Order: sequence, then structure tokens, then C-alpha cells
Amino acid sequence: MRLKTKITVLTGWLFVGLILVLIPASLLSFRQFSIVTAEEHVRAVAEVVRVSLTEQMINGVISHRESFLDRLSEVKGLLGARLVRGPNVVEQFGPGLGRERGPDVIEARVLQDGVPYFATLDEEGGSIFRGTIPFIVQDRGNPNCHQCHKAANGAVLGAITITLSLSHLKRQALVTILVLTLLIIGFAILAALFFRGQVAPVALVARRVQEVVAKAKEGNFRTHVLCNTEDEMGEIARDLNWLMSYLQENLSNISQEVARLIQYDLQDNSNLLVTTIEMVDALVEVAQFKQAVEEDRTTREVYLRIARILTNQFGVKTFSIYEVSSSRNHMRPVVVDGDPDAPASWCDPQILFHADACRALRTSHRIDSFSDLSLCSMFCGQQENPDLGHICLPVMHSGMVGNVVQLVVEQKNGHLYELLVPFIQVYLRESAPVVEAKRLMDTLRETALRDPLTGLHNRRFLEEYIDTLVATAKRKGYRISVLMIDLDHFKKVNDTYGHDAGDAVLRAIARELAAQVRTSDLVIRYGGEEFMVVLQETAGTSGEHVSEKIRLAVAGLEIALPNVVLKKTLSIGVATYPTHSEEFWEVVKLADNALYQAKQEGRNRVVIQQKPVTVEGAATRPDAPRG
Ligand code: GH3
Ligand code: MG
Ligand code: MG
Repeated sequence: MRLKTKITVLTGWLFVGLILVLIPASLLSFRQFSIVTAEEHVRAVAEVVRVSLTEQMINGVISHRESFLDRLSEVKGLLGARLVRGPNVVEQFGPGLGRERGPDVIEARVLQDGVPYFATLDEEGGSIFRGTIPFIVQDRGNPNCHQCHKAANGAVLGAITITLSLSHLKRQALVTILVLTLLIIGFAILAALFFRGQVAPVALVARRVQEVVAKAKEGNFRTHVLCNTEDEMGEIARDLNWLMSYLQENLSNISQEVARLIQYDLQDNSNLLVTTIEMVDALVEVAQFKQAVEEDRTTREVYLRIARILTNQFGVKTFSIYEVSSSRNHMRPVVVDGDPDAPASWCDPQILFHADACRALRTSHRIDSFSDLSLCSMFCGQQENPDLGHICLPVMHSGMVGNVVQLVVEQKNGHLYELLVPFIQVYLRESAPVVEAKRLMDTLRETALRDPLTGLHNRRFLEEYIDTLVATAKRKGYRISVLMIDLDHFKKVNDTYGHDAGDAVLRAIARELAAQVRTSDLVIRYGGEEFMVVLQETAGTSGEHVSEKIRLAVAGLEIALPNVVLKKTLSIGVATYPTHSEEFWEVVKLADNALYQAKQEGRNRVVIQQKPVTVEGAATRPDAPRG
């Protein structure tokens, strides 16, 4: 309700209340006043009648009392006056005039008790006041009652009943109340007008403040209150205007800074307040995300975190995150629809081996299907659902595309993702350096754990990996066979054909070794021309069988060098964990001993460690590689 209306309504209610209290109070007091006045009148008339009757008795003209009483009835407002005789007077002077006889019930009671009676009667013609006053014998004054009446003091000689009309008093009261009510209403109107006038400037400023605040709620802080008065209203207007300018300036600065930070395209007509709050919230969440990815141990954890953000924060449930190989033209899916182990499902699989086929990767630009459904021919989501489209976002690592994040969304939701993509890209940009650094670390680590000549894992890898391998074997009940392999008379190759030829032989044999075992087995270049094969012995595999297979394969291998085709043999010593020892490095030592035995027995053979043996001085750590 508006302030002025409120003032009017309040004043109205106040005066209505006043009228409601005053009118009954006035009516009541008028009634009391009328009764008291009527009583006084009745008593006065009774006294006049008494004095007049006494005078008439003394003067001997009591017989004229009737005409006196008749004239009395003509007095204005006096409706009637009737005398009744008490028993004493009847006894002394007889029953009297006809109308002085036969007292009614009230008169009979007054004659008996000597107590005056008063009553207000509402009759058809109007309100009437009746008073019945007894004439009681007194010896005071001269003349007094005893001069004519034979009666004791206090005896009731008679009574007079006087009736008065109260209508004129009632009329008077109503007129007075009407005037009073009109005066109050008039005063109420004046009061309402006065108060409205008083609050008018306040109401005006309040309305303007309300308009400014309403605009501010819509994010518009440019409007101001026009009020230059020097009172409190002017002060409120000036303070509010200052606040609006302050908010406008600072909020637009903050939002511009944040927009620049998250590379968000700020719309001119956007709600400054809501946009700023949303962007600052986004920034805080991104900061928390960044800290979390920095603390993640592996790239897999980071990818899964990005996947969770896509699903939980942006509602994207179908998506792919690809990792682009830095050296080869390959890419591999690292998370598909939230699953880190799922195969690629939203694109033609050829992009995995011909990464250039991925348009986002090739162009380093965002590619989406909203403007042109057939822009990227590799997207195959439409085969599943023709309404599906894609947004592919390249993530740059040092100027190259390191990852491609593909959102698979319904075409009709394209406009929504137009708004969301800048926020998604903030997360991708923030995680990119972390992913790049972790991938670099992985590469460095991989390099440190591989032999550059053969591409096989090296002995350091074995040292790092063996605890996991042994723990897995223990858990699953596997045995692990260790094959120590040394090329026979390898020195001769170097001496005869040169070191490069030796290297080529080592590479060829390494390839052959890897080809002869399962991918779950390990082939390690243990030393110069010494290899180790670690076999996880499950049902159907045995160290002896695989060793023989390797020996025969290598013996039959023809190694083509620039000028010659070579054949080489090798010797193998085999021991098994935990059959021969419960200490892995002891098993290695036993296999090494068996290898030594194979050399001793003439080379190109396999020697199996036969039974558990405690090796004298068996090391729990590997020895230095032999050349
Ligand atoms: P044996 O049958 O007793 O093993 O005779 P062998 O000649 O193979 O003797 P040994 O195992 O001691 O030979 C090691 C040779 O391997 C010595 C070294 O010149 C050669 N060698 C070690 N590492 C490399 C390498 O990386 N490249 C080349 N070309 N030769 C290597
Ligand atoms: Mg050798
Ligand atoms: Mg050797």
C-alpha cells in the first residue's frame, strides 16, 4: 500500500474509532442527564403542588385544586399531574375527587412506603418520565401539616404522580451527536489531507528509491534518485546515488576483469550483479579445480576430474576426452562418457591412427555441428540418434593440440552450450598446463625406464615394477619364472663386423624375444648383451617350455646385416618364484647361476634350476649389470 493511501486509511480508521467511542458515550451521558433533569423537574413540580395545596387549605380554597392541577398539565413538557389521597386524609376528609381515588400499583406502594418512585417509559408517542412523590407529614415551617391534618410525623398524606415527555431531550441529544459526528468527519478529512501533505515529499523520494532499487535488482546501477533537498530525504537520495555509482563502477570493473580472466564474452545488456556473482563463483570453483588437478597424481586422475566437472557441473553425460600423441599421428580416448577404460564411441575409429582426420585437432579450432551438421565427417553420433550434435574443443599444450574434448549434445540444446562452452574452456585451459607437465613427466620417466637401443624396459624398470609384480603374483597365486639370457660369443660379432653390427644384432634379438612372449610378460635388457624375461606362469605356461621356444626361435633367426646374414644362439638359465626361493632377487641369482651352468655345459641351451637352493652369498638386491 502506498504511503499516502496508508496515511489516509489510518486517519480514517482513527476517526471512525473516535466516532464509535464518542457516540455511545454521548448517548449514555445524555440519557443520564435527561433522567437526572427529569427527576429534578418532578421533585420541583411536586414541591410546588405541595406548597400550593397547603396554601389552598389554609385559605379555604382547597376545593379549587382541580383547576390548578389542570392548568399545571398545560405547562410545556408536563404531560400530567394526578393526586391520590393516603388513608389518613381519606379518613379525615373523605375520598376526595373522583380522580384522586383508586391509586395504581406504584402509587399504592409509594403511599405505603413513603419512598419516591421514578421510571422512564418508552411508549409509542416517545419516551416518558414518570415520578410518584409522596407527601409526608412534617412539623417544620409555618404553616405545617399538623395545622390541618391529624397525622403523625412521617405519615404519608398522599402522593402526586407527574409524567414528563423526554422526546424533546432525546431530539436535542440526537441533533448534538449529529453535529459532533459531522465535526469529527470534517476534522478527519482535514487531518488526512494535512498528513498526506506532510508525507508527500517522503512518499515521492521513497517511490524514486524503490525504482532505483528495482533497477539495481536487475543489475542496472546507472539510475539515480532526483532529490536535492537539504533534509533527511535529500541525504538518503545522495547516499543512495553514491552507492549506485560505486557499485556500478566496481562491479563492472570486477566483471570485466573476471570476464577477461576466464575469456568470457560479456554482454552489454546482461545483469551486472548476477553475471558478476556467477563469474566470481565460477572463478572460485575453477581455482579449487586447479588446485585439485595440481594435487592429482596421474593424468588419468586429471582426466577423470574433468569428466566429473563435465557431468556434474555442466550436465554433459556423453562426451569423449582424447589424448593426442606428441610424436606420432595418433590419438587415444582417455575418458568416454565418464568411463576411463571405454573405447572411442562417438567418432570414426580411424582418427585414432590418423589423428589429422580429427578436424578440431587439425585446425586447432573449436568445431561444432550447430551451424553445419556435416562439418566433421568423423562424428558418428548421428547414427545412434539423428538429433545428436557435437562440440569439439582442442586443448593446447605449448602451441600444439594436446587433448581434444568432444561434447556430444542434442542439436536443440546448442544455444545453451554456446553459453556454457566458455566456462568449460576455462576448466580445460586451467588443467592444460598440469596435463602437459604430467604427460612430460610420464614421458621422461618412460624414457628413463627404457633402453634406447632396443626399446625394451631396462633393469631400473624391473626394480620399480617388481614389488607390484610379486604382490600380484602372491594375490593371484601365480608363479614367476625368471629367464636369464646371454648371447653366445657375442664379442665375436663386435670384433668381426663392428659395433654397429653388434647393435643391430641386439635389436633383432630383442624384437624376437618380445615376439616370443605374451604382452603381459616382461622382456628386459638386463645388461650389455644379457636379457631377462619375466614370465607370469599361469595355467598353460611354464618357464621351461617358453625358454626352449625362445632358444629355438633365436637359433633359427637370420639376422640380415649390410654385408652378411648372421645367426646367433643364446644360453638361458631359469629359476622360479616362489618355487626356488621366496625372495625374488634370490631367484634372479639362481637363474644367473643356471645361465652360468648353461655356458659351462657348452652354450645354446636351457638350464632349469632344479630345486630350492640357498645360494651362498645370494643377494637381495640386484648386482650391477654385466657387459
Ligand atoms: P659368452 O658366450 O661367454 O657370453 O661370450 P661373449 O663373447 O658373449 O662374452 P661376453 O658375454 O662377456 O660378451 C660381452 C660383449 O658384449 C662385450 C661387449 O663388447 C658386448 N657388448 C655389450 N654391450 C654392447 C652394446 O650395447 N653393443 C654392442 N655392439 N656390443 C655390446
Ligand atoms: Mg655373451
Ligand atoms: Mg655377457
